[in-house]
Amino acid sequence: MATNYRILGKIEAERPCDCCGNKILKVAVVIDLEGVQVHYGRDCAGRLLYGCKSLANARKAEKAADAADYAAKMGRDNRLRRVSKDKNRANYLYAGTRRGLDGSFFAVKGSDVVRVDGKDEADVAFFLSEGFERV
Ligand SMILES: [Zn+2]
Repeated sequence: MATNYRILGKIEAERPCDCCGNKILKVAVVIDLEGVQVHYGRDCAGRLLYGCKSLANARKAEKAADAADYAAKMGRDNRLRRVSKDKNRANYLYAGTRRGLDGSFFAVKGSDVVRVDGKDEADVAFFLSEGFERV
């Protein structure tokens, strides 16, 4: 039984389950399984997470996937909340995160500006993926 996994979220999926492969899913639970991203149906995800296939475990797995989606959305919203039209305001918002100034830098997208935590790879990657450029 796999021990190293992380629930990434839930997607609509017209595809077979990566676990059992025996039916076309409508909804897949996306799981990082020992570094490989897989798509499991709710039943198989329930077994992976909670030990056996059952309706209750399938529902719990789906809830865990929903929670992961929600956490990802909140993380995005929290980061975007630091964006401002004004550099001083962006600085102020950054200070509110208690991130260090050391290694940080401003990034812009159009008239938007944000201070990025250069020591946090996820923070840098996030703002680059949102179209910000380092200045
Ligand atoms: Zn399956």
